[in-house]
Amino acid sequence: MINIEPIEAFNDNYIWLVTTNEGSIVIDPGESNNLLKILNQRNLDLRAILITHHHFDHTGGIDEIVSQKSIDVYGPKNNIDTINIRVKHGTIIELLGIQFEVIEIPGHTLDHIAYFSENQGDPVLFCGDTLFAGGCGRVFEGTLEQMHDSLSLLKKLPLNTKIYCGHEYTQSNLKFAKSVEPLNENIISRYNRVCKLREKGIPTLPSTIELELATNPFLRADIKEVQVEISKRFNTPKNDKDIFTAIRQWKDNY
Ligand SMILES: [Zn+2]
Repeated sequence: MINIEPIEAFNDNYIWLVTTNEGSIVIDPGESNNLLKILNQRNLDLRAILITHHHFDHTGGIDEIVSQKSIDVYGPKNNIDTINIRVKHGTIIELLGIQFEVIEIPGHTLDHIAYFSENQGDPVLFCGDTLFAGGCGRVFEGTLEQMHDSLSLLKKLPLNTKIYCGHEYTQSNLKFAKSVEPLNENIISRYNRVCKLREKGIPTLPSTIELELATNPFLRADIKEVQVEISKRFNTPKNDKDIFTAIRQWKDNY
């Protein structure tokens, strides 16, 4: 049994706490207060920290946590020196009786990685700020081509993979998705569902690869309806990468 729960941080970040009968791990602790409170209250045994990329809102809590608990911090090669186990594409990590595979997905940052587990037929993905529900991260350090390639890797994961990303951006992402595909019923109904959840303050995550393939414009650059709409707005796109680039640039200024 695996239990995955969000800890809300800052305005719209999610820190993910994963617990099995062997203990807990935390993904991207941008801050530590709420996490440490929960660990103490429920007497949970934190075994490791997993980091997806170097941004402060994903790493700012590491120092305080490791000052209280002597645990390993896994992460990519970057400037965060509290990461003591560096991982790269294909690295397999075994924690809490679960195997996680590292997937390198540069674009948002150059160091960005995701953690994927088959999890005995109930696959899970922790993807930080690369793939969001209904959207994708801004491209700060890498190229648009890298981001497109990284999302293409994630697209190939099993359809039932549950997606745990780093922010609650789903509502605004789907609002944009409706502009890209005004007639897409899947997007419209998902947007309406998400609005109801957010009215009550309920997280819209996890998503799934299947749901993202149906509603996320950044995974749909190869779909005819999207290509027609983008070509109407922007003259240039010729291939999937151009279409993806046009959508990302449109969203940047949306
Ligand atoms: Zn980030």
